[in-house]
Amino acid sequence: MGDFIQLLPDHVANQIAAGEVVQRPASVIKELLENSIDAGASHIQVVIKDAGKTLIQVVDDGRGMGLTDARMSFERHATSKIKTAEDLFSLKTKGFRGEALASIAAIAHVELKTKTEEEEVGTCIRIEGSTISSQEPCVNPKGTSICVKNLFYNIPARRNFLKSDAVESRHIIDEFQRVALAHPHINFSLHHNGSELFQLPDTNYRQRITNIFGGKTNEKLVPVNEDTEIVKISGFVGKPEFAKRSRGEQFFFVNDRFIKSPYLNHAVVAAFEGLLKDKAYPSYFLYLEVDPKSIDINIHPTKTEIKFDDEHSLYAMLRSAIKHSLGQFNVAPVLDFDRDANLDTPYSYNNKNAETPKVEVDRNFNPFKNDGRASNYNPGDSSYRKEFSPSWESLYSGIENENPSGSGPDQMEFESEEVTGSLFSTQEEKPEASTFQLQKKYIVSTLKSGILVIDQNRAHSRILYEELLKNITISAAVSQQLLFPLKLPFSTQEIEMLKEIKDSLEQTGFIFSEIERDTVEISGIPTLIAESEVGMLLEQLFSDFENDVPDNGFSQTDLLAKSMAKSMAVKSGTALNNSEQQHVANRLFACKEPSLTPFNKSIFITLTVDELEKKFT
Ligand code: ADP
Ligand code: MG
Repeated sequence: MGDFIQLLPDHVANQIAAGEVVQRPASVIKELLENSIDAGASHIQVVIKDAGKTLIQVVDDGRGMGLTDARMSFERHATSKIKTAEDLFSLKTKGFRGEALASIAAIAHVELKTKTEEEEVGTCIRIEGSTISSQEPCVNPKGTSICVKNLFYNIPARRNFLKSDAVESRHIIDEFQRVALAHPHINFSLHHNGSELFQLPDTNYRQRITNIFGGKTNEKLVPVNEDTEIVKISGFVGKPEFAKRSRGEQFFFVNDRFIKSPYLNHAVVAAFEGLLKDKAYPSYFLYLEVDPKSIDINIHPTKTEIKFDDEHSLYAMLRSAIKHSLGQFNVAPVLDFDRDANLDTPYSYNNKNAETPKVEVDRNFNPFKNDGRASNYNPGDSSYRKEFSPSWESLYSGIENENPSGSGPDQMEFESEEVTGSLFSTQEEKPEASTFQLQKKYIVSTLKSGILVIDQNRAHSRILYEELLKNITISAAVSQQLLFPLKLPFSTQEIEMLKEIKDSLEQTGFIFSEIERDTVEISGIPTLIAESEVGMLLEQLFSDFENDVPDNGFSQTDLLAKSMAKSMAVKSGTALNNSEQQHVANRLFACKEPSLTPFNKSIFITLTVDELEKKFT
């Protein structure tokens, strides 16, 4: 038998390596940006077309490469950054594998133009599928310009696997921001399809963060500083009241490299304990400096996870540093140990009855009255209820069917008589008796055969979801015009997302009068929501789209409706009067799918007399 094992040809090996290094256009951006930084650039420009699928160009004014280096740079494992394995433990550069350029050149059309300070003329190399197609002298200022065209042109499967331009450009912006946040002293710009997304001048950390996330960010930032033997911590955390509904503004950098660390994230969240609303994520931009010897960045090929020698101490220091800052800047509540006696209740007040504190609320807002246009609800109109009775009926008979043994034949007859009428028919004269609210969370109703308990928040989210879906897909909803347009600040990333879902949002009743780079002017909102809720609703929306980015129009509409329904649904803890309770119940059972929320959670439960009786045995 002959020998079967052969070495793979270089271009095949490179293609395989490319699979590791280059997952999408954003990976190319990351590698090229890091190379420019390693080359000591002070200005870096990025230009992309069609979310990087057609063109990615990175131009820097770094040290450039001489002729031989320029050719060498495309060889696999060719790097100027480490020479021995020991060098790995004192790494000061971003790159070290010497794989990026070789990988990129294996799966795209690449043109490299570069020149060093000393050279008179530069070098231009064109390479595609690992084969150099031309090499000639060229005119180039000091620095390097790399053009990557037609990414994955020779791997159709990978190319087809790419997501929509919107999604891919979101990934690119993510990578761009991570690098730009770590290097505020470098000028960066990003252009997409001819329009400028970012123009970031040389500045300090605080200003860089503000330039990226919008003008309003500055006032939200609380500085964090801690210098210990094992770590130097600097950066900022967002004030708790500005906590976001998404993880979009959470950044750790270790020795100027963006990293992900669930463990350290936990330390930050722990420092915020008790200060955050439910489901709110604190913003943070934290820069850690550690001895390169004490970390291992080698464990993950795309290098966003690293291993620390002493994770536990790091955790403790980070947590206390942030706690300290939050306390120092009076963000955290002051503990009440030595209370000022002047603040105690004066004697004369001691025997008075406490008055209910007055809370300022938007009294005009009532989620149930506002949406009358959809259902023409009128509590006094009994025909309204009858309209919905069939659904109730089926629910009712559903309980019966489940427990056929529970009722004798005459009872059955009696009940079927009930079923033909409206559910509330027995209380027609005093409808207050038919439902009550439990713990401001559940709507409870008695049925002839038992008890029905509805989760008000979930029920309302189902109702709104179906209604929104109808509005978006069939007919545009009515808008409520704002007397004074709302101006809301958002990040570039969020603005890009907004543009993407703008059409669907307008179907729900939003009117966007102006969309700028970091603000949106809204002159009309859906009648279902209050003006004060708009910011929160959009933020939730962006966060939902960030974590789950549908490509096709249908699922985009669906996600939009789900997200808005979730934000707008009446919360647990909201008192509802009787007609509101019944309104929810009636509309719920007029829904196509009354038993489950859009997120597949149960909306109501029933407890039959039978089941009750069992409990009493
Ligand atoms: P690595 O960055 O891991 O060394 P790369 O494949 O990204 O590997 O780059 C190979 C080499 O090419 C680098 O070590 C560097 O010497 C050179 N190089 C790449 N990009 C640039 C650039 N923009 N300016 C100067 N030199 C560069
Ligand atoms: Mg590199």
